[in-house]
Amino acid sequence: MLDLTYDAPKPKTIAGATGDWELVIGLEVHAQVATAAKLFSGASTQFGAEPNSNVSFIDAGMPGMLPVINEGCVAQAVRTGLGLKAQINLRSAFDRKNYFYPDLPQGYQISQLYHPIVGEGEVLVEMGDGTARLVRIERIHLEQDAGKSIHDMDPHMSFVDLNRTGVALMEIVSRPDIRGPEEAAAYVGKLRQIMRYLGTCDGNMQNGNLRADVNVSVCRPGDYEKYQQTQDFSHLGTRCEIKNMNSMRFIQMAIDYEARRQIALLEDGKDVVQETRLFDPDKVETRSMRSKEEAHDYRYFPCPDLLPLEIEQDWVDDIASGLPELPDEKKARFIRDFGLSDYDASVLTADVDNAAFFEAAAEGTDGKLAANWVINELFGRLKKDDRTISDSPISAPRIGQIVRLIKSDAISGKIAKDVFEIAYTSDRDPEEIVETEGLKQVTDTGAIEAAVDEIIAANPAQVEKAKANPKLAGWFVGQVMKATGGKANPKAVNDLVTAKLGL
Ligand code: ADP
Ligand code: MG
Repeated sequence: MLDLTYDAPKPKTIAGATGDWELVIGLEVHAQVATAAKLFSGASTQFGAEPNSNVSFIDAGMPGMLPVINEGCVAQAVRTGLGLKAQINLRSAFDRKNYFYPDLPQGYQISQLYHPIVGEGEVLVEMGDGTARLVRIERIHLEQDAGKSIHDMDPHMSFVDLNRTGVALMEIVSRPDIRGPEEAAAYVGKLRQIMRYLGTCDGNMQNGNLRADVNVSVCRPGDYEKYQQTQDFSHLGTRCEIKNMNSMRFIQMAIDYEARRQIALLEDGKDVVQETRLFDPDKVETRSMRSKEEAHDYRYFPCPDLLPLEIEQDWVDDIASGLPELPDEKKARFIRDFGLSDYDASVLTADVDNAAFFEAAAEGTDGKLAANWVINELFGRLKKDDRTISDSPISAPRIGQIVRLIKSDAISGKIAKDVFEIAYTSDRDPEEIVETEGLKQVTDTGAIEAAVDEIIAANPAQVEKAKANPKLAGWFVGQVMKATGGKANPKAVNDLVTAKLGL
């Protein structure tokens, strides 16, 4: 069950000359299915291969070739649907969407317009300030991707790379439940997170793995609530669709620009024309690509080469029983079992690899302290080196060792930072480092007492000052720590200094 105890975030409001406006946003996210082969052919989906090396006769649209559905892609779509708490349709069907495009030689895209494999679902999008938006999913359908036309390699010729042609995409369509640019980015981030947990999409936006068409409209305060009550779209403004966004930052910039453009039109007494627009990141503006009037007639019809897709409930149940723990549940468990704060649990579960690393580090020791070490020391250090957790030079069990050394008072937190640095840069065991370098904390009060006595005897003037102003006792603690090379147990030093000075 989704945690519905969060408050909803406030919708983004823009003040116009004639009053306030609110934003309404719905996203169509295209997620490349993580599979080895394409949706209807055995060609590889490997990214970055030689152009046109991953192309079968089917992808090249050769006459007489017949598509064969890849069961792995269907399983991934089902898995994604289950991860989004969505209805799985045991019967779905493929349609042809006809259009001419040089990077889709078939002359049509095979997609699921009328009978998608996944129906209604929902996603909880946390905003990091204690609020969260529940975004309804309308559907997810499977479809083929197109290839890539290249126009900037030669002044006279265009080139085409068909490697991506026929790769499976999941189109995840949301309801218009998103109410601001930050929410839109957070929504894409949440989908990406869930799919990376599920292993159904790599979510690499730079590689075009995850792209979004962003629908934006504006309305007056109160109108959205009327839409919510009735599901009647006439309460909402006319929308524009911004195509093919593959950066969280650009998504936010495009929405902001587009909303302001629509408000200016409306306040000028003009209408918003429903159309497809493109975002230009250099000029930070959206431009018309095609209007609804000149929209293609795609002449959709059921693909005669493919039977309707029928799957069995048992098969779906099998997939469901193999689902990993998902981000919301993992986060709740981290808070409950390790006593982590909401924030720390969010940071650690943001990525499935981070979460696994933390759990391995926290095994059999203090979870809160382990979380601190992973988030503050390790993540900070990795960031400095431009590394991620998967190529961390220090392993999770070694972080665990450091935490245990601190917990057992073998080393102080300060010495632990030195141990961490040595372990990080030299591939050595923290326990061995502490042994070999003689870094064990001195808890033997006799030794600490001798050091305290010595400092007190050598500094009579400071002693007088500290007796008048107990805050100055800290100076003695510092001197003792220095004299013991930072190895004295700070609490023991503090207690002894206070006692000896009679404070
Ligand atoms: P189409 O078939 O024209 O693509 P859909 O009904 O499939 O239209 O909607 C496409 C996307 O547009 C969905 O994500 C939906 O939530 C969103 N959308 C629909 N109406 C609006 C609106 N008034 N403002 C913002 N987004 C909208
Ligand atoms: Mg659509």
